Amino acid sequence: MRTRVAPSPTGDPHVGTAYMSLFNLAFTRQQGGQFVLRIEDTDRARFREDSEQQLYDTLGWLGLWWDEGPDVGGPFAPYRQSERLETYRPYVERLIESGHAYYCWCSKERLAKMRMVQEKTKQPTGYDRLCHGKTREERAALPGFTETPVVRMLVPDDVELSFDDVIRGKVSAPRPDDQVILKADGFPTYHLAVVVDDHEMGITHVVRGEEWISSTPKHILLYRWLGLKPPEWAHMPLLRNPDKSKISKRKNPAARLTWFREQGYVPEALVNFLALLAYPPQQDADGHDVEVFTFDEFSKSFDWGKVNPVGPIFDLKKLEWLNGVCIRSLDAGELASRLLPYLEEAGVLSGNPSLGELGRLEAVTALIQTRMALLTEAPALVGPFFVADDQLEIQPDARAQLRDDTPRVLDEAIRVLGDIDDHDKGLLGMDSGWNAAAIEAALRGALVSGLGMKPRVAFGPLRTAISGARVSPPLFESMQILGKTSTLNRLRMLRDSL
Ligand code: GLU
Repeated sequence: MRTRVAPSPTGDPHVGTAYMSLFNLAFTRQQGGQFVLRIEDTDRARFREDSEQQLYDTLGWLGLWWDEGPDVGGPFAPYRQSERLETYRPYVERLIESGHAYYCWCSKERLAKMRMVQEKTKQPTGYDRLCHGKTREERAALPGFTETPVVRMLVPDDVELSFDDVIRGKVSAPRPDDQVILKADGFPTYHLAVVVDDHEMGITHVVRGEEWISSTPKHILLYRWLGLKPPEWAHMPLLRNPDKSKISKRKNPAARLTWFREQGYVPEALVNFLALLAYPPQQDADGHDVEVFTFDEFSKSFDWGKVNPVGPIFDLKKLEWLNGVCIRSLDAGELASRLLPYLEEAGVLSGNPSLGELGRLEAVTALIQTRMALLTEAPALVGPFFVADDQLEIQPDARAQLRDDTPRVLDEAIRVLGDIDDHDKGLLGMDSGWNAAAIEAALRGALVSGLGMKPRVAFGPLRTAISGARVSPPLFESMQILGKTSTLNRLRMLRDSL
């Protein structure tokens, strides 16, 4: 059992490539087969150099690893179509010799004009077979001739238009045109290359987007003419924009796979989300829906019969929710290491943080883990823990909230916190030494019991002094992490600025 994903390197990888890879892979891993990454780079006009590397990076980031591919090699190498050009030639020769394909010398201008006339007179569009049955000399005598021919399929009138699909059952497609299979530049078109490569690479199941349904009868014809066994077909529903149009990089930034990492999504959430787009939730032992699941859980119970053939709409709200769930389920150390690139990007930490900084980051991460839906929210929450006290900026909206009694609140806080022993005695939950419990007890005693203030009113200015913002990670734990010196510095600085 072998599957493949066959993206064309035409720019930023499309989210559809991850979606196809996921469904291919869920099935392949379940069946113990191999999953191949093949680069379909025969469209030289749309080729983009860096796009292949981005593909490896993004699919790898998602953990959707391939067993064979241009980068890892494999028994059917090369896995880039541009490096397989000699492979296709003999197949084309066979098709020409058996009369199933023919040379076509029609110029672009002639083809464009033919199409225009067909459209104007409301005839079906398609090649009119002017070149079929003619030698080069015979054709050269007629107008609209070019020197470099293409090769076309001779699609018979009785072409089989329906086929079996593992998701959709019997599927019908419209009648194809005399498709070009070899271009004037000597490159095969997608249709020929995909059939030859899927055959040569032993692909047993072709899982791809529903936009290819109309091409499948041509592919089946090629298999038949060449005497090859066709694979099973699974045409996945297309991802759609909220207006139901096909999701495109032009219209929707979320069509770019790199976008998700930029936005702060974790790969587990995106994989879970992509699975849910076309697949029902898992069921727990009591038959309840479980929307949060891992790739392994998905793969284990995977069943083509459950794939919903109706084009799913991208609902980013759902993804954001899943992202929060996944973030909360990570171990704090793991989450901290995932935050590093975002913190570096935002200038909060250098690319090479010290052990002390990493320790502090892990402590802060545990505090903010439940307060984040996206990893990109981390720099604002983490930043205050990594600036020098005199560099902390008090945000205008936080300052605007301070009241007339703020100086008294700060004075009291400075007084009682000053009395706490500088070192945490390490007695868990005991309010002795510089720890969150002791800090909380001191502040509540002084401000809530002592001054009779409401906690929210009393702690607001302290929060602002510590983080510079109106909202911050939990206050007492934040003070513990900052340490006594820094905490008092910050309280005094705000006090002095009033
Ligand atoms: N190169 C095609 C694409 O970019 C592959 C389609 C297929 O899987 O057959 O979508």
